[in-house]
Amino acid sequence: MSTPALQGVAVLGSTGSIGCSTLDVIERHPDRFKLVVLAANRSWKKMVEQAAAHRPQLIVLMDEQAVLHARAALRDRGLAIPVQSGAEALAAAVSMSEVKIVMAAIVGAAGLASTLAAVRAGKRVLLANKEALVMTGPLLMEEIRIRGAELIPIDSEHNAMFQCMPAHFRPGTEPHGLTRLILTASGGPFRTTPAAELESVTPAQACAHPKWSMGRKISVDSATLMNKGLEIIEAAWLFGVPESRIEVVVHPQSVVHSLVEYADGSILAQLGAPDMRTPIAQALAWPERIGSGVQSLKLAAVRHLEFEPPDLERFPSLELARAAARAGGTAPALLNAANEIAVQAFLERRLNFTGIAAVIDKVLQRLASRPADSLNDVLEADAQARRLATAFIEPARGAYS
Ligand code: NAD
Ligand code: MG
Repeated sequence: MSTPALQGVAVLGSTGSIGCSTLDVIERHPDRFKLVVLAANRSWKKMVEQAAAHRPQLIVLMDEQAVLHARAALRDRGLAIPVQSGAEALAAAVSMSEVKIVMAAIVGAAGLASTLAAVRAGKRVLLANKEALVMTGPLLMEEIRIRGAELIPIDSEHNAMFQCMPAHFRPGTEPHGLTRLILTASGGPFRTTPAAELESVTPAQACAHPKWSMGRKISVDSATLMNKGLEIIEAAWLFGVPESRIEVVVHPQSVVHSLVEYADGSILAQLGAPDMRTPIAQALAWPERIGSGVQSLKLAAVRHLEFEPPDLERFPSLELARAAARAGGTAPALLNAANEIAVQAFLERRLNFTGIAAVIDKVLQRLASRPADSLNDVLEADAQARRLATAFIEPARGAYS
């Protein structure tokens, strides 16, 4: 077989959990991939280490103090790598002609602009930043179609379903004969915690996920099951299937990463050890297969695979997300923004764990969904929901108490 051409990669959110796993896979294949851009928020020390190991052409850091620190540290090491800052620099970086693949792994709505820029530049976009798709589903899918960009989901469930799609599958179009998507959920750290105890759980407990090692925001989302709610919306846009045909099952072993059912009764699943390097490697090399460093799964050692329905009373976020998916328009953006504010407040110990869903519910009751015909509509809804959620959390300072 001929050697594939070296492909340039931009890793957005390189210092995070997905970013580090991406660098790990890329390091294993120097004949296939070359890091061109590394981008993150403010973790300049980690960024300088990554830059020393991978020698990218360009670094982008959002925090201006971090830029100054990184420049000085790179100079001390004799590394002549430019460090830029700001949203425009990031959008320009992903559009560089040397970049063929963009890993969109910035967490939250902060990743929207760069994800969109990568799509508009017609790149292969590896989408970890699910919040961008939740916020702007139809707009982003339309841009993908117009620009001829490739979108490959990195979220383990969506990547699993992507692997179970027919060969001619195009994102956003429902595959012929597909009847149901079945999203698996680990159940998070509080799967068996009694309802009465949920109010007093701590951020440290919420972030101690039993199966996956992830960033703090998504760890809390997994604990509330909002992560699964966001994933229902993500799957609906990616696979062109309404929320009513997306089932959620709790599967504590996290071995079956998700399933797809077809009209003839076949259910296809993708299995593997719970390690994000598998979907990352699959998406980087697709349609080829490359090593990821992930250990082979020994089924006889796993022994039991269990599936159970989610508890909607203890975890109301799932239904909030379904309602937002049904409402459409700006509702998913409102849901996402309220969640981001509530999760941050929980992590800073300004809000109880059970308060997260309560705040989102109040925001969705107060703000009606509007048509999301433009990016501006979405950004306005996002800002409005953030203001209202903040006001609900800190009523003394807010305007809406
Ligand atoms: P993380 O918190 O570990 O890392 C976030 C990264 O984003 C960091 O590099 C940070 O510097 C960067 N960042 C944050 N704000 C930024 C900004 N304003 N501008 C530029 N960079 C910014 O998060 P993570 O767990 O790696 O998750 C990243 C994304 O991937 C999230 O959308 C998450 O939902 C999704 N995801 C993660 C996992 C996982 O296993 N970690 C699985 C599925 C999906
Ligand atoms: Mg997931």
